Amino acid sequence: MAVKEILLLGNPILRKKSINVVDFNKDLDELISNLHDTLIDFQKRKQTGRGIAAPQIGALKNVIYIHLPNRSFALINPEIIEKSSEILEVWDSCFSFDVAFYILTKRFKSIRVRYQTNEGKLVDEKFSGELSELLQHEIDHLSGILATDYLVEKSQIIMRKEYEKIVKKQN
Ligand SMILES: [Zn+2]
Repeated sequence: MAVKEILLLGNPILRKKSINVVDFNKDLDELISNLHDTLIDFQKRKQTGRGIAAPQIGALKNVIYIHLPNRSFALINPEIIEKSSEILEVWDSCFSFDVAFYILTKRFKSIRVRYQTNEGKLVDEKFSGELSELLQHEIDHLSGILATDYLVEKSQIIMRKEYEKIVKKQN
């Protein structure tokens, strides 16, 4: 178990494609536990963060770890197999941007994902709302895609302080 260094935007490893996990062994358990520790450490330092993908700590494996107040789990070899026609617009940031800025992204309101658990069990699950947009962000990492890739308009990128003003106004 260890807190790993988080690779930042500009690091070429973040742009590589990850490969499927074949062996559900001790190495996988260690990777998941490192993702957990790194995420918790980041949350403590930055007061934000809900999910992390293996390439962000330099492991090019199709592994995602999600940590929400009501649910923590790993998704191994996740694949989006269905997307809703309805779209959500969300302000999205990333550990790999050090959460310095936010980007307005369009995400599918709900998705169906096929993945394996840490024990290799195949699961087919529908996700909506927060988990849907979060998983689309993390699954993008496995293909080397970052939220900045969705930038089209100048108004789509704002600094964290400005984002926090928007959130305050909404609540
Ligand atoms: Zn990210």
